Amino acid sequence: MPCRHADAGCDEEMVAAKVAQHEERCPHRPVACPNPGCRERPRALSAASHAALQCRHRPLRCPVAGCGETVAEVRMEAHLRAEHFGRGGRGAPNGGSALVQAIVGNNAVVGAFFTLLLASLLVNWIFFHFYL
Ligand SMILES: [Zn+2]
Ligand SMILES: [Zn+2]
Ligand SMILES: [Zn+2]
Repeated sequence: MPCRHADAGCDEEMVAAKVAQHEERCPHRPVACPNPGCRERPRALSAASHAALQCRHRPLRCPVAGCGETVAEVRMEAHLRAEHFGRGGRGAPNGGSALVQAIVGNNAVVGAFFTLLLASLLVNWIFFHFYL
């Protein structure tokens, strides 16, 4: 007798008496996603990767340096807009630097690279400007 989840890819066959026991642990059975708000039912064998990688409701650390909040991916854009780049355009005096901080602030290597790049551009500019 085949498993109830045969059409999901389970190819186990067993005697009728064992079916219920197997179906409870079948790697192809649908399970609830552990992330709050998600209504998807991933297969048990891919539930961990769904919850960690694909789920739109998985919690993400806000990328803005100093914020430290954990926000579901579906809500991240709203969070960034409301908390960091809010009021849009002219009314956001810190919008630009918050964005740079978000990109550079969490990554010392990128920060050092930008500093080096700026320094070498400046040196080049001074060299061409004054010596040629
Ligand atoms: Zn099965
Ligand atoms: Zn999910
Ligand atoms: Zn934030």
